[in-house]
Amino acid sequence: MVRKNDVLELEITGMTHEGLGVGRADGFAIFVQGAIDGEKVRAKIIKVLKNYAVARIEEFIEKSPYRKEPFCPVYKRCGGCSLQHMSYEKTLAFKRQVVIDNLTRIGGLGNIAVKKTIGMDKPYNYRNKAQYPVGEGKSGPISGFFAKHSHEIIASDTCDIQHPVSDKAKKAVLEYMRRYSVPAYNEVTGQGLIRYVATKTGFYTGETMVIIVATRSKIPHTRELVSMLKKEIPGLESVVLNVNSKRGNVILGEENITLYGNSTITDRLGSLYFEISPLSFYQVNPVQTEILYSKAIEYAGLTGTETVFDLYCGIGTISHFAAQKAKKVIGVEVVPEAVEAARRNAVRNNIVNTEFHVGEAEEIVPQLYEKGIRADVVMVDPPRKGCDEKLLKTLVDMSPQRIVYVSCNPSTLARDLKYLTANGFEVKEVQPVDMFPWTYHVETVVLMCASSEAGKC
Ligand code: SAH
Repeated sequence: MVRKNDVLELEITGMTHEGLGVGRADGFAIFVQGAIDGEKVRAKIIKVLKNYAVARIEEFIEKSPYRKEPFCPVYKRCGGCSLQHMSYEKTLAFKRQVVIDNLTRIGGLGNIAVKKTIGMDKPYNYRNKAQYPVGEGKSGPISGFFAKHSHEIIASDTCDIQHPVSDKAKKAVLEYMRRYSVPAYNEVTGQGLIRYVATKTGFYTGETMVIIVATRSKIPHTRELVSMLKKEIPGLESVVLNVNSKRGNVILGEENITLYGNSTITDRLGSLYFEISPLSFYQVNPVQTEILYSKAIEYAGLTGTETVFDLYCGIGTISHFAAQKAKKVIGVEVVPEAVEAARRNAVRNNIVNTEFHVGEAEEIVPQLYEKGIRADVVMVDPPRKGCDEKLLKTLVDMSPQRIVYVSCNPSTLARDLKYLTANGFEVKEVQPVDMFPWTYHVETVVLMCASSEAGKC
């Protein structure tokens, strides 16, 4: 029996999907923080649960050749990255293995070859979106990150996976709060004003939006705040006050008040321009997004005659790339502002063969199908919870030649592929892409073909 505070010698034989090393004591699984598969460690048990225990390394007996020094000084405490103690190559192999494990265990698809994860040449400063929580420290306002599994704010000046502009915005807002005694929000009491400093940046255009999330629709000295931000950020295009008066963990509220400049910014991906607003989804790693989308479009195998459904289309990014090679693209998205942006993006890019519907894919697609509208190629890019079974069922009935599945969660991907492979589709290719270097997250793009068409696809 494993007990708290026991110190055990463990061989690390695997990794959890969050990047913890897995060892075993008499068959009982022990998740060791910061351990890498292949290592031998002496570890102290810090928590015992029903099916596993958690341990902390006391001493290394054998170190992995893939171990390296984390580049971030707050790596151990911050909840953002979990793989900085490994070489970048090793993190890519780890992510591929996560996809394989999920496909095998959940999807029953152990026989499928998974390609090597496509990584970045320079996996730093890759994020175009930051959201820093703000709180009251011992000597004034602080901002940084939530600690792992907690809401304790760890103050930090820089983050090397973010675009540097986000650090400048954070610095300016903290300075504004100090200078004008503007109180930070307190999660425990629900009192206070400033909750988050968020930024969105167009990597290509250099346009930046700063979003101040506050509990009320008025904050003091906005003119001074804007001029402090302008001084720090040359490409400042927009300052938005987002009002979130609700308790809880949701970062952004629904109301946006433009304090300076435009209410949106623009970025470019490949040859197309996209409008980005505070609430709509836009991929956070633009360099890898181009790679991901090109893969997805390659898998779609478009020749110019196809009708394509782009489900969970956000602001219509994939739709507009597909539209350049297809007869028609129908996008479906649940956030109305995103659909409005998708339509404006069509106009801006002179694309005339897209149409967008607001609503849940599982509601809209059956309606379209009932009206006799069918897709030759379906592209889906759902949130973490994956596709609703009602949607998958309609896709099976509709039987498009190809389904291209873009996923940010290998376990729901595996669940959905299991359904589709049991109902007339074959998985042709699985390509992981590293959209979130140094975190345990992995994006995957999958090509599936209708079994009846498999020879042609
Ligand atoms: N393909 C887009 C967006 C992907 S993110 C891109 O690459 O930018 C997933 C999107 O699905 C989000 O925009 C979210 O608002 C939307 N969404 C979530 N649930 C949905 C549902 N049931 N039906 C349609 N869209 C949904």
